[in-house]
Amino acid sequence: MPRAAAAALRQRPRAQVLVIGGGINGVGTFRDLALQGVDVALVERGDYCQGASGASSHMIHGGIRYLENGEFRLVQESVVERNRLLRIAPHYVKPLQTTIPIFSTFSGILSAPGRFLTHKQGKPKERGAFLIKLGLSIYDFFSRDGGSVPRHQFRGRDKALAELPRLHPGIKYTATYFDASVHNPERLTLDVLQDGEKAGLTGNLQGGLSAGTARASNYVSLVSMDDDGVRLRDELTGEEFSFAADVIVNTTGAWVDLTNAAMGSPSRFMGGTKGSHVVLDHPELLEACNGREIFFEHTDGRIVLVYPMGDRVLVGTTDVDADMAEDAVCTEEEIDYFFDLVGHVFPSIHVQRDQIVYSFSGVRPLPRHDATQPGFVSRDYRIERSERPASAGGSTGVVLSLVGGKWTTFRALAEHLSNDVLAELGMERRLSTAKLAIGGGAGFPETEEGIQEWIKRHIAPGLDAERVAGLLTRYGTRAEEVISYLNAGTDRLLHSTHELSVRELAFMAAHEQIGHLVDVLIRRTSLAFRGLVTGELLNEVAEELAGHLGWDQETRQAEVRHAVEVLERLHGVKVPSLVA
Ligand SMILES: Cc1cc2nc3c(=O)[nH]c(=O)nc-3n(C[C@H](O)[C@H](O)[C@H](O)COP(=O)(O)OP(=O)(O)OC[C@H]3O[C@@H](n4cnc5c(N)ncnc54)[C@H](O)[C@@H]3O)c2cc1C
Repeated sequence: MPRAAAAALRQRPRAQVLVIGGGINGVGTFRDLALQGVDVALVERGDYCQGASGASSHMIHGGIRYLENGEFRLVQESVVERNRLLRIAPHYVKPLQTTIPIFSTFSGILSAPGRFLTHKQGKPKERGAFLIKLGLSIYDFFSRDGGSVPRHQFRGRDKALAELPRLHPGIKYTATYFDASVHNPERLTLDVLQDGEKAGLTGNLQGGLSAGTARASNYVSLVSMDDDGVRLRDELTGEEFSFAADVIVNTTGAWVDLTNAAMGSPSRFMGGTKGSHVVLDHPELLEACNGREIFFEHTDGRIVLVYPMGDRVLVGTTDVDADMAEDAVCTEEEIDYFFDLVGHVFPSIHVQRDQIVYSFSGVRPLPRHDATQPGFVSRDYRIERSERPASAGGSTGVVLSLVGGKWTTFRALAEHLSNDVLAELGMERRLSTAKLAIGGGAGFPETEEGIQEWIKRHIAPGLDAERVAGLLTRYGTRAEEVISYLNAGTDRLLHSTHELSVRELAFMAAHEQIGHLVDVLIRRTSLAFRGLVTGELLNEVAEELAGHLGWDQETRQAEVRHAVEVLERLHGVKVPSLVA
């Protein structure tokens, strides 16, 4: 069955701008450009948010530790953006109370400024209370706009242990402050994308451009350049086609150099580092965290985290040089490291491998770093401009490559990248995205009472309060559109999970560019993340999607096998594989 998204690219194979890469930075840039009335297209070779954007620590944070790298601009921008995202994406970005356990008073005071001035590598000395206090005071200062989060607090040992009794009894202090977390990065990426697509339609009405001026497709990759521009391949059908654009935006993250090489202009910008996480089903550890992120320095000087997400606990992360020829996966050594770090702060809590329900790994799109330790490589971003060499057909074009870019700063970065594109096109910015609600964040209730009220208003036959609450969590206020769709026909919950219904799967198939079965489990829902995938679920979801996506019996079985393989190889999940 032809996919509408990919077909829209083939039917009109030219745009002012082509964005390559559907991580948060590519999608954010796509949205910003679409809002300026630019004729923009985006391609992603896999599913949206499948790269680093789907492998983050889920923190929307100022990055207090970047202060010791001297990255004041980045920290300030990150704090401002954190506060903005709490306002414009309140459905997915929530305040996160964070506690740092501290074992000494003065350590690191001499080493940190030295590192800050020289960026020399070497094992960092433990960060003591004084240094952390200084960092948090600067952090508070940057946070002062709008006062969205309370100031930090220091606690002595006794009070700290009263709040978090399972913490290591050897601590001297704790420092507690607020950052934010993004609970559903995959869905936030999709919301940003759909905002862009909608803006393309509005641009059509206002600017008289042809239908759908902003169009995007997943499972389409850039493979090479050709006479007319670049060559794209539909990864689901194998078909290739040419596409021309005045400006190409290369937001392929850690793959930026490979993408530039495919376009005939090799670059050496990137030096990605791999980081992994595990998700634990561990009620004792969950309780020990008391709803907070525990953010601390492990014995090797790395900053690591243990952090409750719903009824699971996220533990991460590592920072090792990546091999881009291989898929990033969480290794046995990394798991040992995680267990060790849990023991460092919660010595009375034991973790076992069978408590891991999911693992994930990704490559940070960092700049090349020859001499610096991975943990101290700049997290700031830059934009590199180049011109593609003339093809046989004489076509050239500007390429803007993004080097770096955290999740937290995606909106500001997109604005910056988009300004550079507008300058290339000789166009003016129409509007800023700084205060523009994202997707289902528009009109999202601000209080718990407001949420309960919203839920009550949407209860209907076949939609009880629990189901409505689940939809509001999954879609934000876009749940309104989903609920209308569910109510427009006969619906029923799946047998294998009560978190999904047959019409909701039909909605996803129609509106959310499902390419593979596994997309539903990992990126349209959090079922895989929470370790809730079973063989029965795979078969049932595959069967429901089949009718909508034109999958015959053979394709359906192949999709189930593919999902089992992806979950096992990339996420350490063993699913009993049932034959459909
Ligand atoms: C372990 C880890 C923890 C992190 N924690 C945090 C955190 O807590 N907070 C924070 O702010 N940031 C965090 N980050 C950083 C953040 O996740 C990334 O910097 C950000 O997501 C990068 O987004 P991106 O869109 O630039 O790249 P990506 O998300 O990697 O997207 C690039 C996309 O390009 C696609 N692509 C590649 N080649 C092609 C091609 N030829 N054609 C088409 N598409 C192609 C890829 O499939 C990929 O989807 C973390 C990163 C990692 C890895």
